[in-house]
Amino acid sequence: MHPELEQLLVLQDRQQKIKQIQTEIQTLPLQRNHLESQLAGSVAGVEALKQKARQLEVERKKLELDVGTRTETISRLKTQQYQTRKNDEFQAIGHEIDRYENEIRKLEDQELELMIEADKFKGEIGAAEEKARATKESVSRQLNDLEAKSKALESQQQELAKEREALASQIDDDLLNRFERLFNSKGDAAVVAIEHGVCTGCHMKVTTATASRVRAGKEIVSCENCGRILYEG
Ligand SMILES: [Zn+2]
Repeated sequence: MHPELEQLLVLQDRQQKIKQIQTEIQTLPLQRNHLESQLAGSVAGVEALKQKARQLEVERKKLELDVGTRTETISRLKTQQYQTRKNDEFQAIGHEIDRYENEIRKLEDQELELMIEADKFKGEIGAAEEKARATKESVSRQLNDLEAKSKALESQQQELAKEREALASQIDDDLLNRFERLFNSKGDAAVVAIEHGVCTGCHMKVTTATASRVRAGKEIVSCENCGRILYEG
């Protein structure tokens, strides 16, 4: 193989690795966001349950207050009833007391229902908090892993860039420019093998003349279809 081709192949290998690492680095913020929203979601879930429990407690307190005012009214009515000498007034007050007592029973039933619901919520909140703690632990572990991965990738990238720099400095400027233009425009590879007379870059058959020039290995030969630099595979 043409000695400069060998250098180009090593250079290409490093550039491909650098590109791969860069792509991987680009996905890191997305992974990080995903983890952070997972965490925020579990915290928000617990908070929503707590908010609902607070709401139930407010409703329950209101019912308690309503019971309290009716109890006071009843005791005031009982005093009035005790003081009256008129039979019909005594009875009318008695009916009113019954009405208030009925209301109190209904309010207390509602209060009991709310308390049962609140108890159920307490259990749900406990379970959600437990789950949120586990999520937090797992997310922070995964975030640490991502951080470590990010650092490792950065340093790999730096190493490869240094290596690439050293290799590039040994290659003829014109050839290097040609290689770079090809590498950037093709996106995958600038130097590709011929296999069974076919360019593995564009998968087209090359002419026999091109194939034999490549085989001779005396010059840098390009695929007449895609322009990539060819080597004998
Ligand atoms: Zn080609």
